[in-house]
Amino acid sequence: MTNQTTNQIIMDTHMHSKASDGIWTPREVVQNAKAKGLEIIALTDHDTTFGVAEAQDEAKKQGITLIPGIEIDAKYQTELGTVRNIELLGLNIDVGLLQPLVDRRNHDRLSLMEDYVRGFNDYISSETFTAENENKQFKLVSPRPISLAEIVDWYNQRNLDSKGVAYQNPNPFLSKMTLVQFIADKFLASGLREKILKAEREAGDTFKKEYKRVLSTNKESKPSFYEAIQAVKAARGKAVVAHPGLSKGYEDGMIKEWEMPEEQWFTSPGFTAYRFIEDLTNHGLDGIELYNYRGSDKEHSESHDLINKYFTKLANKLGLITTFGSDCHGPKGKGPLMGTFGSPTSYLNSLGREETLTKEDKRRLMIQHDLKRFAGLCDMAETKGVPREEVQRLRDRVSEL
Ligand SMILES: [Zn+2]
Repeated sequence: MTNQTTNQIIMDTHMHSKASDGIWTPREVVQNAKAKGLEIIALTDHDTTFGVAEAQDEAKKQGITLIPGIEIDAKYQTELGTVRNIELLGLNIDVGLLQPLVDRRNHDRLSLMEDYVRGFNDYISSETFTAENENKQFKLVSPRPISLAEIVDWYNQRNLDSKGVAYQNPNPFLSKMTLVQFIADKFLASGLREKILKAEREAGDTFKKEYKRVLSTNKESKPSFYEAIQAVKAARGKAVVAHPGLSKGYEDGMIKEWEMPEEQWFTSPGFTAYRFIEDLTNHGLDGIELYNYRGSDKEHSESHDLINKYFTKLANKLGLITTFGSDCHGPKGKGPLMGTFGSPTSYLNSLGREETLTKEDKRRLMIQHDLKRFAGLCDMAETKGVPREEVQRLRDRVSEL
């Protein structure tokens, strides 16, 4: 299951395209995966499966396996605790069966944008605006009322592929950031405009603070984790918690149990990652994503060996499948690219192995581990989505290793 000469991991089941907030079109995602030596990938765009058909088409041409997927923005609010920043992957889903959820998310996204647009228009016509605007670092130059249609147009025209062709998505992925960048492009003086358009963190934070009134909303439209799991299962997919160790997910107070002595893991009181995932498992969760880390997330990348160890044990305890995911969004920011999961050493350590292995041992172990996971994926592939001959071809390749 690994490339024979380089030990490179060849499966990556978490990546994004222009169908949501990725840089590459679905076709380009597949082409880049192929170039990187990946053989099995899942396209998991945020709240949409729009890119899957295009990716499937390209995957056939490139001779690699594409697992239809999605990443659902879900919330968790129960008597156990609250989690807002961890998402749910649906892997190997029947795209048609998941459409009701996708439609609902499209609708929610648009209605949220409408709220922001209304907020902006109200703000610039308010009595206090002129005086407040003068005192802002990011003051608006000749602001005028805006519309949702105008933002959609603006977004689509800028969403170009590598050949400069606009990506056509009838339901583009509009977020708060889209509005911020639109406002910057239309109403900020040059210099300031570029800072926001280039997504410079400090500038973005200041802007958001100065326009808090426009950018805050009480609308909570995300599905619950229970609903999201149910929707994925109803679409015959596997429900997998994405990057469960990502530190942003702990802002609501979930306890990082891996920071405690190992003998206390899974038994400590309070709302721990374990309690959260145990509850989801009781509601049908199939797996968790391992080995995901983001280079830009300092806190997380420094402790990812420990986090991986914790979640590996947790998965075994709860009988969950485990998946790899780079969460690749294409070449932007400091996020990892596809096929990147940290060093092979940290990967092996996370499996509970010693660091003193020979190169050959490491290769063998990685193959064994991948094979185990691969067998599970073949089963998944067979249930729906991947043609039988394709699965057989992959099974044959496994037995050759
Ligand atoms: Zn993602």
